[in-house]
Amino acid sequence: MARLGGDEFGVVLPGLSADQAVEVFTGLRAELAREVVLEDIALTIEATFGLARYPDHGNSVDAVLQCADAAMYRGKHSAVGVVVYDGASATHPTQWLVVQAELRHALQRDELVLRYQPKLDLATGRVRGVEALVRWQHPRRGLLAPSVFLPAAEQSGLIEPLTAWVLRRALADQADWIAAGRSWPVAVNVSARNPESSAFAGTVTDLLEEFGADTDALVIEVTETALAVDPEAAARTVVELAARGIDIAVDDFGTGYTSLSQLRVLPVLEVKIDRAFVENLDRDEKDRAIVRAVIDLAHGLGCRVTAEGVETPQVRDWLAVTAGRSPYARSRPTRTR
Ligand code: MN
Repeated sequence: MARLGGDEFGVVLPGLSADQAVEVFTGLRAELAREVVLEDIALTIEATFGLARYPDHGNSVDAVLQCADAAMYRGKHSAVGVVVYDGASATHPTQWLVVQAELRHALQRDELVLRYQPKLDLATGRVRGVEALVRWQHPRRGLLAPSVFLPAAEQSGLIEPLTAWVLRRALADQADWIAAGRSWPVAVNVSARNPESSAFAGTVTDLLEEFGADTDALVIEVTETALAVDPEAAARTVVELAARGIDIAVDDFGTGYTSLSQLRVLPVLEVKIDRAFVENLDRDEKDRAIVRAVIDLAHGLGCRVTAEGVETPQVRDWLAVTAGRSPYARSRPTRTR
């Protein structure tokens, strides 16, 4: 057994089959999870084990360690405590390391770009704001979607400079629109990792100040998952941002884990219904029932509602009629701060 890093250990088990090794590690894991009392504080340790076999998974120490590392990472992202390397697993840490290194350069060289998606007011047909969507114009791989690079950014500290870059670019673009007579609020998506940082609300207000932008000019979109990952930290950040006058939207509502009690207590101004419920509205009666209910719920809570993924006139018309019939249709959002 050897210590490989701060909280990482390597164990060599000669002559065991994978099944036997899993058994050993499962026992070790249970042993570690046993409560110990240190200075009157009860502690339990959680450990994740990644397993790779020599020579099946590589014929050098480095190669085998890399596979074990990949398996361990997979274990960390699931409830499984002991994971045997499976060559097919897509998110290999060495790939992440490449993406992370390239992304660091991308931020310096301004290879990221923003695309803006309009949010329409269905009553007037006018654009009432836009959402900034980040893409990576990769020098060799072309235009990359966030799903390709955000996980690697979230795994490293890169998500903070990346979100700051998006905020900065969006506010700069917005200043240009305002100069052209269009005062659209801009919405920026934040990662589940951003609200974990206690400095995040400060970063956002500093940037607003730097650009001389009004707090009303910015909407921060937080996914339901972000609210669920670390509810206390997320709630603290959301409350802090709202206290500074920034509007908060709950993104992808309906597919994540926001409990209704969170929606009741958090200062959320906007609820965005996940596109999964919106796409087939014109055909699917169950989707219609859900969307109708979410519109009423959100309006009843004093929030405004945005439907994601409206791509046909049929869906738009259905939404306009339904929202118009909502019992709260005439009330304005009241939960800004
Ligand atoms: Mn969004």
